[in-house]
Formats: sequence, C-alpha cells, structure tokens
Amino acid sequence: MAHIPRLEIKDLTRSFGGRVVVDHVSLSVEVGQVTCLLGPSGCGKSTTLRMIAGVEMQDSGEIWVDGRLVCDTVTRVPPEGRSIGLMFQDFALFPHLSVADNVAFGLKGPKARKRARVCELLERVDLLRFIDSFPHELSGGEQQRVALARALAPRPKIMLMDEPFSGLDNRLRDGIRDETLSILKEEGTAVLLVTHEPEEAMRMADEIALMRAGHIVQQGAPYNVFNAPVDKEAAAFFSDIN
Ligand code: ADP
Ligand code: MG
Repeated sequence: MAHIPRLEIKDLTRSFGGRVVVDHVSLSVEVGQVTCLLGPSGCGKSTTLRMIAGVEMQDSGEIWVDGRLVCDTVTRVPPEGRSIGLMFQDFALFPHLSVADNVAFGLKGPKARKRARVCELLERVDLLRFIDSFPHELSGGEQQRVALARALAPRPKIMLMDEPFSGLDNRLRDGIRDETLSILKEEGTAVLLVTHEPEEAMRMADEIALMRAGHIVQQGAPYNVFNAPVDKEAAAFFSDIN
C-alpha cells in the first residue's frame, strides 16, 4: 500500500493584488512529526497556514488530510470539517469564558463527556486547579497551555501553529515549547509549526521546510538544512545560531 502522509499540500498558490505570495508550495507532514515552515517575515508562511486551515482560499493547488482531498478548486471542506487544530499567537482565549468553557468551546456531545475531556486535558497541561478561573487570572504561559488544551480538545489530526511562542518572555519560552511538544507527541498529533526563528526550528522540528519569497527553497532534517544550506542566503539566515 502506498504511504499516506497525515497532511499533504501540493502546489498551493495564492496571489494578492496580482502579487504571488505563495508560489507552488508542496510539503507533507507525517503522523507524530513536527514539520517547521521556517522563513523571514513576509515570505508567505501565515498565508500558507491559513489556506490549510480553510480560512483563506487558494488560487490553485490541493490539500489532503489522511489521504482525503479537503480542498482544491472544486472541493472545499469547511474549516471545522478538516480535523485541524489551530494555535496562533493572537488566537486569544475568550476573556468572558472560564478556563473550562474555553477548553470545551469546540466540543460537541453530552455535557458529562465534554467535562471529562476538559478535565483530562487540563490535567495533561497541569492546570486542573484553574478549571473555574478566568483567563485574566492566569499568567501568559498558563494561558498558552489553556490554548493548547483547547486546540487539542476535539482530537485534531493536525495542529497548525503560527509563531505560538513569540508572545512569551524568554524565561518561559523554552519550558513551554518542550512541554507543548511532549503533549503533542503523546497525542500523536502531526504538527506544522510556522516560525521566523531558526533556533526555534532547530529545537522543535523533525523536518524543516525553508521558505523564501513564496517558495520552499530547501527541505530536510534540521541537521542537514543547518549544515548544508542551499545557498549563501540560507547560510546567512542560520548564521546567528550558535
Ligand atoms: P509571513 O507569515 O511569512 O510573515 P504572510 O503570509 O503573512 O507572511 O504574508 C505574505 C505576504 O502576503 C506579505 O507581503 C503580506 O503583506 C501579504 N498578504 C497577506 N495577507 C494579505 C491580504 N489579505 N491582502 C493583501 N496582502 C496580503
Ligand atoms: Mg506570519
């Protein structure tokens, strides 16, 4: 049987006002793996992620989840039907809802079952004691973990993360990155992580796709991309990591 990746995008392309910002981007993400879309600001990372999430429509190209076509120019499965979870830097918690209600937000079904899932996840992110608190009573790092629990609640097959750690101060960031990764790995979720920081990609990725001006210019294991950059520009991009 042919191998089927968890997420596969083929030749995804999008223009704004006649300017191509995502140009025939193809990549795949495997079960239990973290693929990092890495590149400087403005190169088209967020637009790529938004198309995969289904909140932005591509001009051409295909998106496949577990071997099922979810979007091309004819088919268009709505965002909530794609089994995709989202964690964006500005994807804030709902301030007027408790931690429990934030985590339960995307869940359907009987109340008791939703409650059980909420408790399970809050335990996993070590925040069960805050179940009846409100977002403003939590630190930035704790809010981030609630956002992770909320995104995981409907058991998405894929988690899309757009610079989710950049709003956190340095002191917290490493711990939260590691914790987030280990929870995602335990859940077996495939992750597509967007970042402009080479150091973050080196730390978190199983696979790096280096993006520049709408194109993927190099793809491979972090060690290989770091040690054998495709050109001078790629080398310079990685040069501030020690
Ligand atoms: P990145 O996430 O890598 O910083 P983006 O995907 O946000 O890049 O943006 C890529 C380019 O597309 C930028 O030049 C941005 O200004 C442009 N762009 C993104 N969204 C829109 C939009 N809705 N309308 C017009 N231009 C956009
Ligand atoms: Mg962006």
